[in-house]
Amino acid sequence: MRYQVPRGTQDILPKDISKWHKLEDMIRQFCYVYNYDEIRTPIFEHTNVFKRGNDSSDMVNKEMYTFQLENSATSLTLRPEGTAGVARAFVEHKMFGNADLPVKMYYVGPQCRHERPQKGRMRIFHQFGVEVIGAKSPMLDVETIALGWSFVSALGLKDMKVLINTLGDDESRAAYRAALKEHFKNDIDTMCADCKRRYEQNPLRILDCKVDHDKDIMKTAPKMEDYLNDASKQYFKEVLEGLDALGIPYEVDDRLVRGLDYYTHTVFEVVSVNKEMGAQSTVFAGGRYDGLVEYFGGPEGMSGIGWAMGLERLIIACEAEGITLDEEDGLDAYVLCLADSVHKEVLAITTELRANGYRTDTDYLGRSFKAQFKTVDRKHARCAILIGDSEVANGTVNIKDVKTQQQYTVPMEELIPTMDRIFGNVGCGEINEEE
Ligand code: ATP
Ligand code: MG
Repeated sequence: MRYQVPRGTQDILPKDISKWHKLEDMIRQFCYVYNYDEIRTPIFEHTNVFKRGNDSSDMVNKEMYTFQLENSATSLTLRPEGTAGVARAFVEHKMFGNADLPVKMYYVGPQCRHERPQKGRMRIFHQFGVEVIGAKSPMLDVETIALGWSFVSALGLKDMKVLINTLGDDESRAAYRAALKEHFKNDIDTMCADCKRRYEQNPLRILDCKVDHDKDIMKTAPKMEDYLNDASKQYFKEVLEGLDALGIPYEVDDRLVRGLDYYTHTVFEVVSVNKEMGAQSTVFAGGRYDGLVEYFGGPEGMSGIGWAMGLERLIIACEAEGITLDEEDGLDAYVLCLADSVHKEVLAITTELRANGYRTDTDYLGRSFKAQFKTVDRKHARCAILIGDSEVANGTVNIKDVKTQQQYTVPMEELIPTMDRIFGNVGCGEINEEE
């Protein structure tokens, strides 16, 4: 029998983890300075958190991992996205009552969608997302985009482009929806099954169709901007002015409708135009949503804005631009055990170094001196600490600075002060007087 990860999932191995840590550290740092706090919601929710009304999105209709345990009437779904759970939590914990609205949140974690796996498209993938709920201001649309944009810029990504559009308010969207229905009325029978469903549920989504994309009837479809009322036009204008003010380059894409049904006003996708990216080029995407808070039983009129970034895709975009995220730190110290009789002392010294903040490891296999020294090289240790019978008998330790090749033999209790002197105080050890 073979055991393998399920299709579309992957192990993130220790050798690759440093890039994830780097991304996660940067995410926390950026959200900290933007004053967004982390929220962690469950990895599964009641199915109706995601499946709402007659949602027409592929994600809800085809991609959800929904299950019901034996003897249970409860239908649960592994979360396919972050926004719904965050909006549910916002209502459940009455965050709408906060003295300082909006509530600005971010999340990082896995999402599950049953899709056809390909490069940049997984069945379990990770998203970093932000949600700002409880205020409607074009400045917030701009702020969230700016957060994501400055994050990808700080990583060094250059081949990025913001595509942005507006879906207008309810009134504008209703007028546009009617115009689209009229437009596709005679051709809908010739279009794909998904489009037929979208025609009934949410005709805007027809514009997002990957199957019928090239048909003439698509190209001649009416444009959203012709159906926007003044308030919606003004809102969008202020968003674009805000992006201009921050020097964030964008392209208005009047075909951009986005996959989820709850969007109103601003929608956007930030894509990599690098040729190595392949078909999955959207790194982060989102928009403004009204009605979601109300749907979960919160007060009316609490608007939100957010986006989600696929971290696997972000890594692919970095690789495409030759940006390396790995930064394997070497060890500070490797303790060589030179005799079977000194295991206890080796353990004590290793522990003491660690307690003082030195990243330390040792040999557990009773290997030869030569083999242990090879590990010192392989682990890029700054120093080797040699402990054998004579060191223990004399109460000393032997420190070898790998770079300078200098050796220091010092009394056991002088180990940490000496390390601090040679390598600079890195841990919580006492500061030493100058030599
Ligand atoms: P797509 O059109 O690529 O299917 P989507 O509209 O379904 O994307 P969102 O739900 O908006 O995507 O998710 C936001 C981001 O999460 C995407 O831009 C992408 O970076 C990432 N993402 C979405 N689905 C996947 C997946 N199956 N595998 C890896 N990353 C994904
Ligand atoms: Mg999708």
